[in-house]
Amino acid sequence: MAEKYEEVFFAVGIHPYDIEKYDEKIMNKYITHPKCIAVGECGLDYFRLPADEEEKKQNIAKQKEVFIAQIEFAKKVKKPLIVHIREASNDSRQILIDYNAKEVGGVLHCFNASEHLLPLAEHNFYFGIGGVLTFKNAKKLVEVLPKIPKEKLLIETDGPYLTPHPFRGKRNEPLYTIYVADKISEVLETPKEEIEKLTTNNAIRLFKQFSTII
Ligand SMILES: [Zn+2]
Repeated sequence: MAEKYEEVFFAVGIHPYDIEKYDEKIMNKYITHPKCIAVGECGLDYFRLPADEEEKKQNIAKQKEVFIAQIEFAKKVKKPLIVHIREASNDSRQILIDYNAKEVGGVLHCFNASEHLLPLAEHNFYFGIGGVLTFKNAKKLVEVLPKIPKEKLLIETDGPYLTPHPFRGKRNEPLYTIYVADKISEVLETPKEEIEKLTTNNAIRLFKQFSTII
């Protein structure tokens, strides 16, 4: 798809659910593609940990190892990170700071409204806002949104999931990001055109850092 459509780019990475598959040889194979512009999704996810204490400890240790390996990889190849964080805000923040992920920066995709992640704005990280913002139960995200520096706001789909209201439950499409922009505009009391321009420029700034193709 990236080769077929001018406006489509891709990232290469191993999600925390697939840590056993991490292999730098495979990463290397894709990263050199001219339309590969980021490393991810990678990160930490403590939502689905094994029940057994020993297995849980091992799983967390392995998740951290694979996350750190991908941060080092991203720094080596000079590409920003797409970071997945679920119920693991403190550990994720600490690792991103300790391993100097700032060098390449990235996006905290599907930002989970955790205030523990806000300091990452100072470390070249952007906050991906998706359809969740439009849900009736998204009070926390509505509350935290104004605390994110405007120059660090991004809009995302997380397609095919998390489709914004009023299409919640349907397959998500990039087209629906317009409803997220609407809601951001309402919460920040900023004209929608300004939000569209701002988030587009932010995305370009982030992914253009090391890319000549964007
Ligand atoms: Zn994710």
